Amino acid sequence: MSELAYPYEAPASQALFDRAAAVTPGGVNSPVRAFRAVGGTPRFMVSGSGPYLTDADGREYVDLVCSWGPMILGHSHPEVIAAVQDAVARGTSFGTPGEGEVALAEEMVARVAPLEQVRLVSSGTEATMSAIRLARGFTRRSKVIKFAGCYHGHVDSLLAAAGSGVATFALPDTPGVTGAQAGDTVVLPYNDLDAVRAAFAAHPGEIACVITEASPGNMGVVPPADGFNQGLKDLCAENGALYISDEVMTGFRTSRAGWFGVDGVVPDLMTFGKVMGGGFPAAAFGGRADVMAHLAPAGPVYQAGTLSGNPVATAAGLAQLRLLDDAAYEKVNAVSARIQSLVTDALTKEGVAHTLQSASNMFSVFFTDRPVRNYEDAKAQESFRFTAFFHSLLADGVYLPPSSFESWFVSTAHDERAVQRIADALPAAARAAAEATA
Ligand SMILES: *Cc1c(COP(=O)(O)O)cnc(C)c1O
Repeated sequence: MSELAYPYEAPASQALFDRAAAVTPGGVNSPVRAFRAVGGTPRFMVSGSGPYLTDADGREYVDLVCSWGPMILGHSHPEVIAAVQDAVARGTSFGTPGEGEVALAEEMVARVAPLEQVRLVSSGTEATMSAIRLARGFTRRSKVIKFAGCYHGHVDSLLAAAGSGVATFALPDTPGVTGAQAGDTVVLPYNDLDAVRAAFAAHPGEIACVITEASPGNMGVVPPADGFNQGLKDLCAENGALYISDEVMTGFRTSRAGWFGVDGVVPDLMTFGKVMGGGFPAAAFGGRADVMAHLAPAGPVYQAGTLSGNPVATAAGLAQLRLLDDAAYEKVNAVSARIQSLVTDALTKEGVAHTLQSASNMFSVFFTDRPVRNYEDAKAQESFRFTAFFHSLLADGVYLPPSSFESWFVSTAHDERAVQRIADALPAAARAAAEATA
């Protein structure tokens, strides 16, 4: 894409990006932040308040990324900040048990019925890695079923046909993951129960677990077809395997009880991150008490972490969860629905083929007129239209995920003024998408 494609400049961000590239591979600490899928200069943000982010050049954006989901109350929510300041003043890490982690676990267990016991970790990656290890230790089996386009963090064995940054970069198998690590992973098309049935038949007594995003958001938003999650659960139960629902993205975002609160399918194990950390590194896995009892020190499956249950992170997460009552979810759902209809109206008006898909308040736009049920469908979209759409919105102060394989996120802080700014920016973006060429 030519320089002319970006009719605005971000000199302070560019200077920081140049400094970053000298000391950090690709200039970023998580690949999708580098804007490689859309081109241009990644914005280095210096502050966030409510629904807005401000970059190093002093430009303000309505944020539709929300740190990839965690900031469901908006940035710098005063009560979350106060809880963090209070915790920080008492010390930042003890390497001992503390009350904050108990209170956070209690809040999670109270909200999510299948969560009988929970272990705190520091990232979603750690949560899924540990849940898989526990499932293998519990069942004494090796193989794991996952779905193409589902992302479960950068766990070696799960970096096969993963979504998110891996989808963005079309690197289905990353160098550095050995055949042995990926060899026990069976990758199947999403929303295809027959494929799961066939895999269980092909590997009798070998499959430890099926892991799936509760409702996928890492290939764009692709909700489970009616009965898909229940079908997975039933096939696992029939075959002595565990059903792991990865709620790192959906947990405490799609309802008080996450996606479980939406479809009610009871997993054996679940994983969490993002919202439960309140913008800090806190994540968790948990589920059936008889399975969790196999975890050290109660049982033989080892798992640990120096900063697990960190007092500052748990204070932030707990403060955020306590503010997330039914009214908060109604607010997020309502603003999400409004933005969804604004986007559809703008694209329809310009005659741009698109499919908007949502799962509760998570949503994304695919530039195709066909429904997207799996990763193959998602890859069939006209991503070049997204690029034009993205840059037009960015120039007009609306910050979208810099990839068409990601969910958009909103918060309780997205008020009338923020929505109006999106509404004002959409017509030009829709026109840019209509005029874009491959
Ligand atoms: C973000 C995400 C992860 C990984 O979490 P990190 O904290 O980035 O390691 C795992 N699973 C899902 C579904 C996610 O969305």
